[in-house]
Amino acid sequence: MPRTSSFVFPGVVLAISLAVPNEQNAQITVVLPTRTRGMMKERHVEVAILGAGTAGLSAYNEVRKVTDNFVLINGGPGGTTCARVGCMPSKVLIQIANDFHRRHALEKEGIRGGEHLRIDQRIVLQHVRSLRDTFVQGVLKTVDALGDRMIHGYARFRKPTVLEVEQQLIHATAVFICVRRHSRNGQTSRICRSS
Ligand SMILES: Cc1cc2nc3c(=O)[nH]c(=O)nc-3n(C[C@H](O)[C@H](O)[C@H](O)COP(=O)(O)OP(=O)(O)OC[C@H]3O[C@@H](n4cnc5c(N)ncnc54)[C@H](O)[C@@H]3O)c2cc1C
Repeated sequence: MPRTSSFVFPGVVLAISLAVPNEQNAQITVVLPTRTRGMMKERHVEVAILGAGTAGLSAYNEVRKVTDNFVLINGGPGGTTCARVGCMPSKVLIQIANDFHRRHALEKEGIRGGEHLRIDQRIVLQHVRSLRDTFVQGVLKTVDALGDRMIHGYARFRKPTVLEVEQQLIHATAVFICVRRHSRNGQTSRICRSS
């Protein structure tokens, strides 16, 4: 059975396959590099923003005032954590809970029948999802309008001002790092740093 060994160098993957029962049959196959600098599209921008969440979009709002020569790079689902699963849908739910809780105050305001109010969980969640979708669509529309200045994918630093993402090498004069940081205790914090 051929044995395959892989050697990974920065930016280059080589696979060597050795068919050995005896040395005469030994065969070496060099699989062409799957990622080389030559195959990558190189791009030069003034600013690269990493992360299209709340922090990244705030950075984008400031950056676009001074230059059109930027890219916004986002890995994972779009629409921001805040709109998809965070602040916004949770506040819709809290608002519904507050509205329902108000039934206890209605009687003394002269509004009768509050004790008959009931929660329909199915409709509640339908409402939350519907507003969530509206919030997320709004964000997606904004970033889609950026065309090729919006790059979908996780970026890696090659150098402090060179990023690799989706077969592209982005050379940026400045990089804004706006990705959510997870700490060891599971808490998250918002960061947006520039390099
Ligand atoms: C249930 C809940 C309720 C919340 N309520 C509130 C609230 O009431 N008020 C409040 O202020 N906050 C609230 N938060 C917190 C708030 O949602 C987050 O702090 C905020 O969304 C973080 O924004 P961000 O831009 O830093 O991150 P995100 O919106 O998560 O955006 C970061 C983006 O960067 C991408 N990314 C990561 N690594 C890379 C990479 N290498 N290259 C490219 N992209 C990358 C991620 O995939 C992500 O899309 C709540 C959170 C939750 C879960």
